[in-house]
Amino acid sequence: MALDPTPDPTALVDPLLKWYHTHKRELPWRTDPTPYRVWVSEIMLQQTQVATVIPYFERWMETFPTLADLAAAEQEQVLQLWSGLGYYRRARMLHRAAQELVAAGQLTLPDTVPELLKISGIGRYTAGAIASIAFNRPAPIVDGNVIRVFCRLFAIAGDPRSTDNQKRLWALAQEMVPEEEPGAFNQALMELGATVCTPKKPACLLCPVQGHCQALAQGRVSMLPEARKRTQQRPMYLATALLYQNDHTHYLLRQRPSEGLFGGLWEFINTEVPAQGTRKPHVRAMQRALEEHLAELKLNGRVVGRGEVVNHMLSHIKMTVQPFFVVCDEELDRAQVGDRPGRWISSASLPEQALSSVSHKLIAQLPKEP
Ligand code: SF4
Repeated sequence: MALDPTPDPTALVDPLLKWYHTHKRELPWRTDPTPYRVWVSEIMLQQTQVATVIPYFERWMETFPTLADLAAAEQEQVLQLWSGLGYYRRARMLHRAAQELVAAGQLTLPDTVPELLKISGIGRYTAGAIASIAFNRPAPIVDGNVIRVFCRLFAIAGDPRSTDNQKRLWALAQEMVPEEEPGAFNQALMELGATVCTPKKPACLLCPVQGHCQALAQGRVSMLPEARKRTQQRPMYLATALLYQNDHTHYLLRQRPSEGLFGGLWEFINTEVPAQGTRKPHVRAMQRALEEHLAELKLNGRVVGRGEVVNHMLSHIKMTVQPFFVVCDEELDRAQVGDRPGRWISSASLPEQALSSVSHKLIAQLPKEP
């Protein structure tokens, strides 16, 4: 096939649409793409893989089939359904936005990008996705997949997140999105990035627009898009109490503050321990810090063993969690731990709580049978 060194962006529309209609994956949010379903799926898909999102999306739609159902839910139920998906701020924003819309008398989402942008948590990309997929409006979208596809197709060098490159990418997306089938076209671009024009080893031989690709023509596919400088992750060391009643029937949990890291979720009692210089604090220092923290909280616990260290990566934090088994006997009707809500939870119902993903990893270390 002859390679076109200066592709006309609009020449890519027909081959991409044709390819999409025969190769698209069947995904639950693609059947019946109502504005609410598209919105929820797009928020869930931010920073999360499709395969991970599918069961969460299905459970969510069974529990909150409409925007009004979501608005009427308790935050804890929302977080519980989101538990394990990460980036919990997304769930809180969805919930808050649904409540704001219903309070304003709107039982669906608006159909234009400017109106969508007024909703909490909806940015330019999500507004474009909802407007084009749910309302058939020719609104452009640029996400991570589209960035990769465009940087290769048009041989765009430099940091793709720079202001100039962002302007260029959005201008290309705007130029390309057709009046007919804008939603299918936007999904075709994302689908190409997700399944063919992948970060590593893209399947250029199967690509419907290979004849238009400048990176392929120039032998620069593996060099584009250029890698971004990663932000440094701050190390965080947590000493954590797997605090249980004598026979492991119940564990004590505490709720996190509603805003910030894992906001509103429940977790095992823990305390951050400073690093020793540039090194991880010694395990004895972690145990001491935890015992002091438990004493401050007036929790009469005794450390009886140590669990396996859990490592957990967040975009800005590299978390190292040292669990300790702590035994403590007290009445099960506790409602407070220090200045935060707290409660004893039976070991059988621990996995159903609105827990942080770190706490889910820790549960795997608990004895299976009391
Ligand atoms: Fe991506 Fe290869 Fe297609 Fe170019 S030819 S858009 S690099 S898959």
